[in-house]
Amino acid sequence: MYRLLVIGFIALTYAIWGYAPAASASQEDRSERYDEEQNWTLPHTTVIIDVGHGGIDGGASHGSTLEKDINLAVASKLYLMLRSQGIPAIMNRTGDYALSEENRWHNTRSRHRKDLSQRRQLTEEIGSELLVSLHVNAARNSTKRGPLVLHQNAGESALLAFCLQDALNRQQATLGLPRLGEPFYLLRRVDQPSVIIEMGFISNAEDRAMLTNPAKQNEIAHAIASGIRQYKWVAH
Ligand SMILES: [Zn+2]
Repeated sequence: MYRLLVIGFIALTYAIWGYAPAASASQEDRSERYDEEQNWTLPHTTVIIDVGHGGIDGGASHGSTLEKDINLAVASKLYLMLRSQGIPAIMNRTGDYALSEENRWHNTRSRHRKDLSQRRQLTEEIGSELLVSLHVNAARNSTKRGPLVLHQNAGESALLAFCLQDALNRQQATLGLPRLGEPFYLLRRVDQPSVIIEMGFISNAEDRAMLTNPAKQNEIAHAIASGIRQYKWVAH
């Protein structure tokens, strides 16, 4: 109940003022928060990094620039960053392949369904605490840019999305709000708090330059890592 109130409060203040939870914390609150962050490394606080697409599924594209490659590049950086901060993390794809190519458990005819099904099984086996699925957006309107975090119809997922959207907005100087995701497979069936992070638009020149630049990819990964820590601090 307390958590629900906190989530409601954050969502409300965020919606009304664009208020960021950490922005007005007093010095005392900050040191408390720092202590909290030190208690992060519980054995079951694994962050699953779902690397969108792979193999013949390139995802969104612009010329020879493919979403699957951007997702993997940022995921690798995020993985190393979280591990170096003592946060258990795993990636469900470390190379350029579709998950279903190695799927030994399911016999669904559709490759895409198999892919999603395997992603879900992996999550259940690990008993993860949260899942972030990395993606890149695309639009016909090439002026559209900026990050967008999609969440499940559940409080913890929405809170995680608010924290991540806020961190990415700061990184990219945008003002977007997270959104309830379409109830498709991953968002509907994974039981842990899960979000889909659209890191930017491959169809926008400015975003594309950011998404394909290794230094900028590091900044994106850094923003995601800090959003995850923010969530941990508020939720637990
Ligand atoms: Zn995608």
